[in-house]
Amino acid sequence: MPALTARCKGCGRPIQGDALAALDAYWHPDHFRCAGCGAPIRETRFDIDAGRPWHESCFLRMKAPRCAHCGKPIAGARYQDPWGAWYCAAHAAELDRCPYCDRSIPPGGCAACRATAVTTPEQAQPIFTHVLHWCKQQGLRFAGARFRVQLYDQAKMSQAAGAPSSGVPLGFTRIATHFVGGQVLERKVLAMNLVRGLPAILFESLAAHELGHVWLGLHGVCVASKPREEGFCQYLSYRYLRQSADPAASYYAHRIEADEDPVYGGGFRAVRPRADQLGLPRFVSELAAPSQGRQRS
Ligand SMILES: [Zn+2]
Ligand SMILES: [Zn+2]
Ligand SMILES: [Zn+2]
Ligand SMILES: [Zn+2]
Ligand SMILES: [Zn+2]
Repeated sequence: MPALTARCKGCGRPIQGDALAALDAYWHPDHFRCAGCGAPIRETRFDIDAGRPWHESCFLRMKAPRCAHCGKPIAGARYQDPWGAWYCAAHAAELDRCPYCDRSIPPGGCAACRATAVTTPEQAQPIFTHVLHWCKQQGLRFAGARFRVQLYDQAKMSQAAGAPSSGVPLGFTRIATHFVGGQVLERKVLAMNLVRGLPAILFESLAAHELGHVWLGLHGVCVASKPREEGFCQYLSYRYLRQSADPAASYYAHRIEADEDPVYGGGFRAVRPRADQLGLPRFVSELAAPSQGRQRS
């Protein structure tokens, strides 16, 4: 029962006679109006958007998100992918997820990733050289080491990387260390491989990650643990993404921040505060300093 002083939220005047209670307020029945068409809402079911009521039919026509797959306005359950696209429940359930960008994709594959896919050595090399140059600007030295990135298909990649149970890795690096009489004689990059067909920005960020491993390996930098090693490499990748102008870069940067994996995500969060505080070039020289000291002694 409305209190004696109940006022209509629509017109602000006191209500005498029938009152309608909705959205934590009272209304003259004719003043409870649809934000879309302006006509009174008589139905007991209605939609609410930004605190305002809508006829279900008006909401569906004017306001409801459209399914990115079938293009129809979505009436019931819906799903939003990490890129902000909406899908009706049926299509969300039936579409695959792109292994690279996590978008919902039709059987033909991911058009967004395909648009910038790095599939040939001729495409890969200049992009890789650009990332290498950026890493050098951050203070990573590669001491004249000669290496190039190689593209592997998924099958070859899982073979070469020894197929860990967590799925096919997108990239890996192998470094050989030659000892003579207990002394390190030489360290060499044997292989730096990335999966063929990655979208360019993901290729770039993975190249930065792998160059982190190369730098650590070539310099014999000891970083205490696997999470700290992967964390450093993820941090490089993250900083690369943050300075990139590619529109998809911030999605991949956020994915590194939000990664729940204890090695990659946990490692990143362990490394980040100090690295943020110093900036990459100083952080890199701090990492390099103690191991250089050991080598001299
Ligand atoms: Zn009123
Ligand atoms: Zn309406
Ligand atoms: Zn749909
Ligand atoms: Zn994709
Ligand atoms: Zn790694």
